[in-house]
Amino acid sequence: MQIHRLKLSGFKSFVEPAELRIEPGLTGVVGPNGCGKSNLLEAIRWVMGETSAKSLRSGGMEDVIFAGTSTRPPRDFAEVVLHASDDRDEELVVTRRIERGAGSAYRVNGRDVRAKDVALTFADAATGAHSPALVSQGKIAQVIAAKPAERRAMLEEAAGIAGLHVRRKDAESKLRGAEANLARLEDLMAGLD
Ligand code: ATP
Repeated sequence: MQIHRLKLSGFKSFVEPAELRIEPGLTGVVGPNGCGKSNLLEAIRWVMGETSAKSLRSGGMEDVIFAGTSTRPPRDFAEVVLHASDDRDEELVVTRRIERGAGSAYRVNGRDVRAKDVALTFADAATGAHSPALVSQGKIAQVIAAKPAERRAMLEEAAGIAGLHVRRKDAESKLRGAEANLARLEDLMAGLD
């Protein structure tokens, strides 16, 4: 998957709408301390469906909304739009928006979708909010010290099969539901005899 463009509005320090074009090859983001470099990586992780506020250096998910300064009032919402293309060169536009008191909403190519659909889309493309391809500050030491099971999870993500685990869990829970219904049906039928 190739990310082409990132649009931010009201996300952390990006109070004004900002748009970044990401050209093929190596891109460097440079700037003084505290100018928002890490916030950019967090915006990518957030639009990919990150559910842990802690991993975005926030107390709660609404903390990603611009909190205001001495000269600017806080915002009521934050929105990040990511433009990417998949391996078949098909355009993917993913939007996540959070409003105070209303939670997050996602769209993929203009269609409302669930958080789970977004997470699966990126997992199938061997990337996503927890992909080892997104390396935050302090994460390198964590990768080196990872336990075998954690390393296996990283390899599975890199191989693009992480989404299969989610689907397997869904299928297992549907199967359990069907078995419970079947048992109930058998009880009812026994009562009719
Ligand atoms: P460094 O080089 O020190 O790692 P950086 O360029 O990566 O810095 P970030 O950590 O991305 O900078 O940005 C930190 C800035 O973002 C701080 O000034 C902080 O006040 C601001 N910030 C974070 N969350 C919000 C928010 N919700 N509202 C407003 N500003 C925020």
